Amino acid sequence: MIPYDYDLFVIGAGSGGVRAARMAAGLGVRVAVAENRYLGGTCVNVGCVPKKLFVYAAHFHEDFKAAPGFGWTLSEPQFSWQHLRAQKDQEITRLQGIYGNLLAGSGVTVINGQAQLIDAHTVSIAGQHYRCGRILIATGGWPDVPAFPGSEHVVTSNEMFALEALPKRLLIVGGGYIAVEFAGIMHGLGVETTLCYRGDKLLRGFDEDIRDFVAQEMQKKGLRIVFNTDIERIEKTAEGFVAQTKQGQTLTADLVLYATGRSPNTAGLGLAEAGVALDKRGAVIINDGYQTNVPSIYALGDVTHRFSLTPVATAEAMALVNLLYTDQRSPVDYDHIPTAVFCQPNVGTVGLSEAEARRRYDDIVIYKSVFTPMKHTLSGLGEKTLMKMVVRRSTDQVLGLHMVGAEAGEIIQGMAVALRAGATKAVFDSTLGIHPTAAEEFVTMR
Ligand code: FAD
Ligand code: NDP
Repeated sequence: MIPYDYDLFVIGAGSGGVRAARMAAGLGVRVAVAENRYLGGTCVNVGCVPKKLFVYAAHFHEDFKAAPGFGWTLSEPQFSWQHLRAQKDQEITRLQGIYGNLLAGSGVTVINGQAQLIDAHTVSIAGQHYRCGRILIATGGWPDVPAFPGSEHVVTSNEMFALEALPKRLLIVGGGYIAVEFAGIMHGLGVETTLCYRGDKLLRGFDEDIRDFVAQEMQKKGLRIVFNTDIERIEKTAEGFVAQTKQGQTLTADLVLYATGRSPNTAGLGLAEAGVALDKRGAVIINDGYQTNVPSIYALGDVTHRFSLTPVATAEAMALVNLLYTDQRSPVDYDHIPTAVFCQPNVGTVGLSEAEARRRYDDIVIYKSVFTPMKHTLSGLGEKTLMKMVVRRSTDQVLGLHMVGAEAGEIIQGMAVALRAGATKAVFDSTLGIHPTAAEEFVTMR
């Protein structure tokens, strides 16, 4: 038998792939990782990191507006997109360097290039074949743009990070995480932004109150949202891109962003040749141990198209490496995935929505609070905060926590620990608040 070049060959150096490669190498496993685009993957290069930097930039807009209420007099603030973009690029280059050093430091061989499976134990890159004991597919996802007349005129989130200049008017299509976050970013940076969504509530899958509330707050800030609207075609004209909707409206913009979901990155990977089963969306099908139907091939993260979040990909990587190479077990708690949407104000959530809790149990109690956070008593912006707690009466267990408000992501992260530990409402009630904060509302709700 031909000896293996590597015990583990990871395809994709994104959130999941890098974590798996580093952890396995740290255990003495001979690991290689192939990357065809950028170290750090989506999150570092065209996802979480640059997006959050843009969110910070956008937020200054509101802070400047709020400042006079607190006694400040400001001259007209000026914004430079080129400066922000350059600062962002510099930070990403720094992070890519850190990823490269971490991989090299842990003994992982990094191979630049497009990897393709040849069979259950062979990966090919630029004509070179590598024999591997196990192969991990961690190739992530890619933006999905539906086919329609004029779809060649639109951009995706990938391009938004590298725009030469900001448009004057932006049309965003979609109502999920990326659409809502970019709407907040671009509105905050002074772009006249219209969000066009085919349904009647943004952020499908989130608690219904959150969905209603976040749209109201976004609209209060001057963002235009058109619901129940489908784009039929887009034409390029002297006035800009003109979108005709199936409902008979015309929406004109200088740039059109489609944020209509992401597809698993499986095309051209040679999965069919290696006999790996995919679902109808092209996602790699895996069992509870991240193993595909081909026993030596594994997959995790966005390419499995289940919970497309960085902490999920990294937790899956740790779970898999422990499963394969140690006696430890570290199963991922898919029931308590905290998540935030970094719009303005933020959405933060963990656990069950009210609707999901009511589907599972018939003794649900809801605690809800809508209030003006202290900052906005003087800001003049009129921003409100919503906090909601879903509790099961018979066990007193807190099943879900939901928030729309400043720093909701930061607050819900802490609350997620309590939910994971099985905290009851009585535990929340007996926890002292930190005064004056918005977060204390979660321990004073009655
Ligand atoms: P990826 O990070 O996508 O990595 C896959 C890697 O594989 C890529 O580097 C790719 O180039 C490489 N690759 C693909 N095919 C091949 C091949 N054939 N050969 C070699 N290499 C290959 N998640 C959060 O938790 N919080 C956020 O705030 C957040 N914001 C986001 C904002 C945006 C705009 C986007 C698009 C995503 C965001 N996400 C966020 C999601 C998060 O980025 C992904 O869930 C995460 O990156 C998935 O990690 P992964 O390892 O599965 O894939
Ligand atoms: P989402 O799945 O979140 O949202 C896709 C949106 O596009 C939905 O509103 C969907 O509508 C709509 N849509 C789908 N197909 C069409 C179509 N043909 N025409 C019009 N609208 C359509 O995907 P995103 O692209 O926003 O983000 C991808 C994933 O990346 C997220 O699900 C999330 O896991 C991750 N992410 C996480 C972030 C975070 O943690 N803060 C930030 C950004 C991304 P409908 O609901 O009606 O189906």
